[in-house]
Amino acid sequence: MTEPVPAMLDCPHCGRPTEHELRYAGRLLVSSGCTVCGRSIDLDVRRRYVADLAGRIRSKPRRLVRRLRRHPVAFSAGLPRSTAAKPLRVYEEIKLVLAAAERARRRG
Ligand SMILES: [Zn+2]
Repeated sequence: MTEPVPAMLDCPHCGRPTEHELRYAGRLLVSSGCTVCGRSIDLDVRRRYVADLAGRIRSKPRRLVRRLRRHPVAFSAGLPRSTAAKPLRVYEEIKLVLAAAERARRRG
């Protein structure tokens, strides 16, 4: 699962350092949320995530992007069993990446 990582960071809204929860998809930071005021910063890391994932499973990025866009669930279920990236974990990461990208898009 994609467990949050705690970190003390300055929160612009609270105006002081507060505990934040950082969420990562693989090695990429996807979101940072203040545990005091609940505000979060979301990053659209879809392209970087796919490139990173491709490196992890040694496949072709373009093919992966197409499959990810069309069928996110089938995409994660269809990853080779031998891969270092566990399908369930990858599926959780993809959900996290897509949700954060959607929030980032809505905020414009
Ligand atoms: Zn805050």
